[in-house]
Amino acid sequence: MNIVLIGIQGSGKGTLVASLTKEMEFEVISTGQLCRDEIATGSALGKHIKEVILKGNLVETDTVLKMIAKKLKSQKENYVFDGFPRSLEQAKAMKKVCDVDLAVYLNLSKEVAIERLVNRLTCSKCGNVFSKLKVKSDICPVCKGKLEQRFDDNLENKFKQFEVFFRDTLPLIDYYKKQNVLVEVDANQTPENVAKLVMRAINEHNYKK
Ligand SMILES: [Zn+2]
Repeated sequence: MNIVLIGIQGSGKGTLVASLTKEMEFEVISTGQLCRDEIATGSALGKHIKEVILKGNLVETDTVLKMIAKKLKSQKENYVFDGFPRSLEQAKAMKKVCDVDLAVYLNLSKEVAIERLVNRLTCSKCGNVFSKLKVKSDICPVCKGKLEQRFDDNLENKFKQFEVFFRDTLPLIDYYKKQNVLVEVDANQTPENVAKLVMRAINEHNYKK
């Protein structure tokens, strides 16, 4: 079963991916990670990807698909795609490599997304992310490291990413709706609840089959 995730930063994708890998034996295909891995090998393809990213451009669809195809050869049963497809063009191209059984749209309002972003605390030791609204001190509840607000999370950049998301990624919703594989979840609730709802939808989907 192949699942694609559609949602802006702050919509709970990280928690959802963690639940799917831990509780439902999904393997994650994160295109960001695939790019970093390829760069680390020092291959010609990796050098090319690094150049593209350094210029601030998106890696070409064909290049990403090649890496995805390679990863799919590991022949696991369940895959969840994080970071791909990001546009209609990419969704159509993806068909060459694999089918999509379920497209999960984590629907978060722009206002809440911005609020979560502004209140984001990152642990300097373990890297976990928390909300300032929930953790009332600057000590990590997981490892007792120091929590800090990171603004490599450059806000202006993030706002730009939000605009791009609403422009390029939202058309995917209609596309998958027409194919009858769309599941929409209200992501304004806690990430834990979102993950529960999505896992329930996956089970229902499998039951119907
Ligand atoms: Zn920590």
